[in-house]
Amino acid sequence: MLKDILSRLTKNADGKPKSNPVRAPYRYQINSEKCRGCDKCKKVCKAEAISGERGKAYVIDEEKCTKCGTCMKWCKYKAIQRLDMYSGEPKQ
Ligand code: SF4
Ligand code: SF4
Repeated sequence: MLKDILSRLTKNADGKPKSNPVRAPYRYQINSEKCRGCDKCKKVCKAEAISGERGKAYVIDEEKCTKCGTCMKWCKYKAIQRLDMYSGEPKQ
């Protein structure tokens, strides 16, 4: 029951994650100076919110980002940060 409710809140009919299902007060951003363009974050992002060209800095589409945090965990170059939506400061 609870699982069904959560699924309907966070996913579209086709099973893909909804854009910004939760209006969390933070956002994810890729630091273009640290990003190596390795493609890992793009591969793990189920919302297909990350784009870029290999070897160059990738970017996150905030309209598509569901704020799951998966990309940040996988980036071995620590190029992805969670920032406070209002102050822009890094948020734990
Ligand atoms: S995983 Fe990190 S280094 Fe690789 S493309 Fe994504 S942000 Fe850039
Ligand atoms: S936090 Fe990262 S992995 Fe999660 S939806 Fe946003 S861009 Fe994709």
